[in-house]
Amino acid sequence: MIVSDNTTRRLLPPFAVFLWLIAAYVHTLHGQIRSVHQIAAGVFTRIGDRDARQPANTSWIEFRDFVVVIEANTPWGIRDILPEIRKTTSKPIRYVFDTHYHWDHTQGNSVMADQGVTVVCSQGCASELAAKGKTEWDQMSQNADYSLAPYRLQQPSVVFGDFMAIDDGERRLELRRVGPAHTIGDAVAFLPKDGVLFTGDLCVNWRSGNNVGDRDADPRHWVQVLNDLARWELKTVVPGHGALGTVATLRAQSAFLDDLWTQVSSGKKAGKSLEQLLKDVNLSKHGDFAADQQQNQSAIRAVFRKAAEP
Ligand SMILES: [Zn+2]
Repeated sequence: MIVSDNTTRRLLPPFAVFLWLIAAYVHTLHGQIRSVHQIAAGVFTRIGDRDARQPANTSWIEFRDFVVVIEANTPWGIRDILPEIRKTTSKPIRYVFDTHYHWDHTQGNSVMADQGVTVVCSQGCASELAAKGKTEWDQMSQNADYSLAPYRLQQPSVVFGDFMAIDDGERRLELRRVGPAHTIGDAVAFLPKDGVLFTGDLCVNWRSGNNVGDRDADPRHWVQVLNDLARWELKTVVPGHGALGTVATLRAQSAFLDDLWTQVSSGKKAGKSLEQLLKDVNLSKHGDFAADQQQNQSAIRAVFRKAAEP
C-alpha cells in the first residue's frame, strides 16, 4: 500500500499522515467489531458491525453432518459471513434460524435459501415478517447505498409454534418462542450441553439502545422473560447485538427495562406529563444499556403510551 512506503510517507503533509492513522485505526476497529469468537467446540459468533449496516451478531453451530446458522443478517452481511463459516467447517449449512422478524436479522434469508438452506422461525415471527417485515423491506428498498434489488423478502419454509429442537444424537439445539417481548414472535436458541443462549434482541450489549420503542414491544413480559432465562444453566449469552455476555448481562438488561417501566408508569400515575417525564426519568445507573439518549427518549414515549392511565 502506498502509504506504507517510507519515501511516499515523507512527502505527505502532516494532516494526510494524521488521516492515514485515523483510517488505520478505524480499519482495526472494524476488524474488532466483526471479529469471530469461538464459544464452544464447533460454536462461533461473529459480532455485528453497525457502520457497515450489518449490526446483528450471527452465529453458527456445527453438527455431525451439517451446520445451523443463527440470524440471516442482511444480504451483504451474510455474504461477508459465509466465508468466515467456511474457514471453520466445510459441512453444508442446513438451517438458518431467525430470532425475530426485524430487517437486520432476516433480510439475508434469500441469500441462504438460494444456497439450499432452510429458513426457520417461530410462527409469530413468520406472520410479522409477512406484514411488518414487508413494510420494512419496501421502505429500505429506497436506499441507494444498500440496495435490496438483487434480493427478495424470503419467508421461512419451516415454522414452529412454541418449541422445536434440532438434534442429531450428538448435539441438540432448542428453539423456544418466548415473545411477546421485544417483538411478538421472539424466539431464543439454546445449546443445553454447552450452556449457550442466543437471545436475539431480547438482550443487546452495546451503547446503541435496544428498541424498547418498537411498537410491538411488551416491556412487562420482556422483563419476566429475561428473569426466567437468567435462571437457566448458562455459561455464555450471545446477545442480538454487541459483546458476548453472561447471566449478569441478562439481569442488567432486565433491571434497565424494569426501572424504565417503574419510573415512567409511576410518574404517569402521579399525573406527570410525558414532557415532564422526558426530563425527569433518570436511567444513568444502567451504563451502556442507557447510553443512547435518543433511544431512551423513544423508550420513555413508548412506555408512557403503554402504561395504564392514572
Ligand atoms: Zn436487531
